[in-house]
Amino acid sequence: MKMQQVSDNCFAVLNEKNRVCDANSGLINLGDGVVIDTQSDLAHARQMIELFSTVWPAMPKRVIITHEDGDHVWGNQLFAGAEIIAHRSVPERMKQVANPEEFKNLLHGVANEATRLSLQTLHPGLAATGLQLLEDYNLDGVELVLPTTLFDTRYELDLDGTEVHVIYVGPCHQVGDSIIHVPKERVVFAGDVLFRNCTPIGWVGSYEKWIQCLDLIIELDPEVIVPGHGPLCGIEGAMEMQAYLEYLRDESRTCFDAGFSSLEAAKRIEFGPYGEWAAPARLYMNVERAYREFREEPPDAPWNHAAVFDAVYDVAKAKGIEVEF
Ligand SMILES: [Zn+2]
Repeated sequence: MKMQQVSDNCFAVLNEKNRVCDANSGLINLGDGVVIDTQSDLAHARQMIELFSTVWPAMPKRVIITHEDGDHVWGNQLFAGAEIIAHRSVPERMKQVANPEEFKNLLHGVANEATRLSLQTLHPGLAATGLQLLEDYNLDGVELVLPTTLFDTRYELDLDGTEVHVIYVGPCHQVGDSIIHVPKERVVFAGDVLFRNCTPIGWVGSYEKWIQCLDLIIELDPEVIVPGHGPLCGIEGAMEMQAYLEYLRDESRTCFDAGFSSLEAAKRIEFGPYGEWAAPARLYMNVERAYREFREEPPDAPWNHAAVFDAVYDVAKAKGIEVEF
């Protein structure tokens, strides 16, 4: 984990492995300080606080959550008494998708030899995901701390004369997706609307909405974008994500029309230039999401996580690449 200065008053803490759950955090070092997203467990959250504390004068009084996934909210409890700002959908969605108990069970399950062996037989992909997470994360002690300030379409802050715009853009990657724009410093904190140098994951929403949101980020004309995952970039990062989404949607359509299942399609579709990104086999999730659109299923239809991770595992094996999530 490292800290990088983004502009005069904006900073980022970046998780450099860039695998699932390695989310970034932001700091706007104005007003009483605003932290953006709080990491995947308490150890990472404490490390983030320590890195940011080298530049901030006191513990920030505000936190903005870009969306409801656990890797962005599981450090919330370390900001006791802070105002936690998020889109109105986020509290309910956090209870659905970021219940730390489920993830604790997975990590404890793979840490124990007997349960690991049976899980590896039943769900090799889920077991491999758990083992990967166990290398870096420990969810013991994590409690779900919900946002305190909710907004619908837009929330604005004035920090010592610098405007900060929190803009609701969901559903793209999750229901509660919001981006944070600091116009005066030409910075956008994009949350998981933008994955950089790693294969994006989209749980809800539509391709069209996601591509439009990336258009919005480009129109805001930032000099620096802090993605939810991966290194800092400029608007070329948003453009490359759009190109990936368009490529995946087109390739998926061809396979869908030819009658292939989403798993067969994911094995057939070439990684192309995106094979260099972290966890390229997560491509399966984007194919399945495209198939849901083609089948006109509801954009928030639930996922079976064990089946998803098993499919990603199958794709990695079929392509002869390292299993990585
Ligand atoms: Zn994330």
